[in-house]
Amino acid sequence: MTGLSDSFQRPINYLRISVTDRCNLHCIYCMPRDSVKLMPHGDILTYEEIYTVVRAAAELGINKVRVTGGEPMVRLGLPRLIAMLAQMESIDDISLTTNGTLLSRYAAELKSAGLRRVNVSLDTLKPKRFQFITGGDGKQDDVLEGIETARSVGLNPVKINTVVMAGINDDELVDFATKTIADEWHVRFIELMPVVGEKAGASQFVSVGEMKQRLEVLGELEPCLPSVGNGPAKYFRLPQAKGTIGFITPVSEHFCFHCNRLRLTADGKLRPCLMSEDEIDLKEPLRDGMSLPGLKKLIEEAVALKPRRHHLAEGYVPKDRPFSQVGG
Ligand code: SAM
Repeated sequence: MTGLSDSFQRPINYLRISVTDRCNLHCIYCMPRDSVKLMPHGDILTYEEIYTVVRAAAELGINKVRVTGGEPMVRLGLPRLIAMLAQMESIDDISLTTNGTLLSRYAAELKSAGLRRVNVSLDTLKPKRFQFITGGDGKQDDVLEGIETARSVGLNPVKINTVVMAGINDDELVDFATKTIADEWHVRFIELMPVVGEKAGASQFVSVGEMKQRLEVLGELEPCLPSVGNGPAKYFRLPQAKGTIGFITPVSEHFCFHCNRLRLTADGKLRPCLMSEDEIDLKEPLRDGMSLPGLKKLIEEAVALKPRRHHLAEGYVPKDRPFSQVGG
């Protein structure tokens, strides 16, 4: 491994790959129904093209990949991509972020293809509310079943991502946290990034500081280490709990100084930062037959564009693409 680092001496070893901009849910804070124009199918990278990008990135020092979307499991044949990536020796961690609705169907196949772990988004334990937040009527049971199946096939850990929104699901903080006591749930509460609009904008924001205060009724949160990885979440455990509670603070306390990521959009653009509009096109060069050394140069150019930090707290959000296209 040669090691890749940006202009601020941050080591870059992590690539998040959006395999589709399509999703079978329409979360109010991410891609509300009819709000997002879909990419033409022909613009979406094939698995072979994604594989080539990852090979080039791996030669530069990327050793961790996360597959995301849109909803990655709505793309046909996802286990085939996972298997292709898993046979690359220098990639030693493959994970997936999903809404979980199709997880019970594919978990075993993904696990045997080489997937190690999975993050499942779940913002409410209440079925009616699930319908309101995601537009997915009756799909909450599928998510809960998906979580159990993922665990039973040995995807480990299964982390639950919960975006907390005032007046929408913040009254469930204690319920989610309580699940970590008996059930070995690993719940991560995420601050809402107000990128979409009035249903999930600045007035629904709840800071992690406030979330922690609301959880005080359950006892002291003991800091602990994550079971796997060293991402942006800070982890805690309630007294006697089997599981953990993580907090992610993209707004109230950015973690850019430890950012080790690049993002590949479904249409083949490399984004050095989720919160910046800079991107470098890899799709056209790939389709014009660019060689691995050429691709590696473009990846290095993207790394050089990584900003020192994002400016979400100051109100700056990129306007060019929704999260569902960049791969949150
Ligand atoms: N469909 C998959 C899923 O539901 O997890 C993967 C894509 S989704 C864009 C990835 C993550 O981004 C989810 O955990 C989601 O909660 C998070 N996310 C999307 N929009 C967000 C926002 N405005 N603020 C905070 N997190 C957001």
